[in-house]
Amino acid sequence: MEAEKTHCLIIGAGPAGYTAAIYASRAGLQPILYQGLEPGGQLMLTGEVENFPGYPNGVMGQQMMAELQEQAARFGTDIRLGMVTKVDFSNPNDLKVWVDDEKEIHADSIIISTGASAKWLGLPSEKKLQAKGVSSCAVCDGFFYRGQDVVVVGGGDSAAEEASYLSKICNKVYLLVRKNEMRASKIMQARVKNASNIEILWNTVVEEVLGEEEVIGVRIKNTETNATQDINANGFFVAIGHQPNTNIFTPYIATDEQGYIITEKGTTRTNIEGVFACGDVQDHTYRQAVTAAASGCMAALDAERYLAAKEVMEQA
Ligand code: NDP
Repeated sequence: MEAEKTHCLIIGAGPAGYTAAIYASRAGLQPILYQGLEPGGQLMLTGEVENFPGYPNGVMGQQMMAELQEQAARFGTDIRLGMVTKVDFSNPNDLKVWVDDEKEIHADSIIISTGASAKWLGLPSEKKLQAKGVSSCAVCDGFFYRGQDVVVVGGGDSAAEEASYLSKICNKVYLLVRKNEMRASKIMQARVKNASNIEILWNTVVEEVLGEEEVIGVRIKNTETNATQDINANGFFVAIGHQPNTNIFTPYIATDEQGYIITEKGTTRTNIEGVFACGDVQDHTYRQAVTAAASGCMAALDAERYLAAKEVMEQA
């Protein structure tokens, strides 16, 4: 099996990973970045990004990611296609990673930026209309539906938060809850229930997202009566949770009960020396491109300082 050594390995290619790559390459760490299965991360699924500072006219998510990649490559990041399939962090002085089950890499430092994937309902119509009215982020995409009617699916804090956010900019928000109760905290539920333009539809599931080129409505079913109904809506927001992409790391890296990597407060350090985490894989609160990018910068600086200190120790 082929083996390779590197100072800095970055796993994942969203705004966090690419920003880490820009900083690490400019610091002379000659990072290697593996893009994984979804190069560009969640921003590839969104349409126009209007809230990233510095783009007064907005930018398409895919364009932003292509430009971030170009910027990381410009400073010398070795950007590769490939999926990290296994790690061995049992020895912090020899962090091992396997790519596509065949290539072995030994790294002095590792930056994990594998993100979190939004959970989807799994309907073909939902997939077809992704970024054409189907979204998993109200803060990112809600503004496109100002003054219009939208649907939010879910009964947890995310759904309550998305519905509340959308209620301030949209005409009407339908909140579809599959049970006759919500899992969201009492205070979030109260906020939703008190909003005059949020209508909660209990015991309701989605049969189909309607539309060809854009969302025009949603076919819903009441699970108690089996009655179906079409409601008009231009935006369809799925808020049924996120899954952090941490499976391969969990034998070594400490995660919280939802699987998010735990980082030391105010840093990107994990429980394993030399391994840092940034972006949504360690953040279930903010989940924004700009916060992911900022933590990518932090991870590169943390890795740089760690490597410098290690070098001093080795020379002493
Ligand atoms: P949760 O796992 O808490 O809730 C998911 C919700 O989606 C549940 O109501 C669940 O229904 C529903 N759901 C799951 N699958 C489907 C499906 N296929 N069809 C329809 N509905 C479905 O996820 P959240 O993202 O809401 O929250 C995750 C964590 O983050 C929680 O701990 C939450 O408290 C926290 N959070 C906190 C916030 C805050 O404090 N501001 C904001 C956002 C999240 P069911 O109940 O029937 O299983």
